[in-house]
Amino acid sequence: MPGYRRVLLKLSGEALMGDLSFGIDPTVLDRIAREIQAVAAAGVELGVVIGGGNFFRGLSGISQGIDRASADYMGMLSTILNALALQSVLEKKGVSTRVLTALEMRALAEPYIRRRAMRHLEKGRVIIFAGGTGNPYFTTDTAAALRAMEIGAEVVLKATKVDGIYSDDPRKNQNAERFVELTYLEVLEKKLKVMDSTAVSLCMDNNLPIIVFDLYAPDNIVRVVRGEPVGTLVRQ
Ligand code: UDP
Repeated sequence: MPGYRRVLLKLSGEALMGDLSFGIDPTVLDRIAREIQAVAAAGVELGVVIGGGNFFRGLSGISQGIDRASADYMGMLSTILNALALQSVLEKKGVSTRVLTALEMRALAEPYIRRRAMRHLEKGRVIIFAGGTGNPYFTTDTAAALRAMEIGAEVVLKATKVDGIYSDDPRKNQNAERFVELTYLEVLEKKLKVMDSTAVSLCMDNNLPIIVFDLYAPDNIVRVVRGEPVGTLVRQ
C-alpha cells in the first residue's frame, strides 16, 4: 500500500455510536476494525486515538453539577471503555494490538510510555491510545495531535461523519461549501469545526498535516492511508 508509512487515526466516540444515541454499535465497530486490519496487514504503522463522547463528555458532566476536572476525568475513563472494545474486536481478527493509557490502569492496559509505543509500532502492533492526554481541560483531538507528534506520524487522520470540512454544517445548510484543502490559519480564523483550536494550533506549530474524512464511506480508512484524495487536507 503506497502512501503513508506511519499514521495517527483519530476516532471519536461518536463514530462508534453509528445511529445509536449512546454506546457502541457492533456493526460499526466491526467495520472499523476490518479496515484497520487491512491497513495493518499492508505494513502501515498505525496509532489510534479514541474518544469517549459516546459515553460521557466533560461538558455534559458540568450540566449535572459535577466540577469540570472530575467530569473530564470521567470523560477520559470513557475513552478507555472504547479502547478495550476496539482492542477486543481487532484481536479477534488476529491483529496484534496494545492499549496504552494516559491514566495508569495497569490491570487492564500498559501505561503510555513513548519509547514503548515506538517499539510496539516497529513490531507491527496497532496502538490504541486511551485516556486522552491524561489532563482535564483537553480533548482527545488534542491527544491525537500530541501523540501523532510524539510517535512521528506523518499525518493525523480525523475520521468524521461528513466527507471533509465545510463552510457550514452540510446536514443543516445545503449551500455549505466543501473545501479540498485549507491552511491551519484558515481553519482557525473561520472557526471551522474540525478539531478544537488547541489541537489545530499544535498541528500548525509542528507542521503536522491533518486530513478530515468520512468514516462511513466504505474502505475510506484504507483509501486515506493509501494517499488517495479523500476528505479535506489541512496544512501550512
Ligand atoms: N478529556 C479530557 N482530557 C483529554 C481528553 C479527553 O479531559 O485529554 C475528556 C473531556 O471531558 C472530553 C471527554 O474526555 O469531553 C471525551 O473526549 P472527547 O470529547 O474528546 O471525545 P470524542 O468527541 O472524540 O468522542
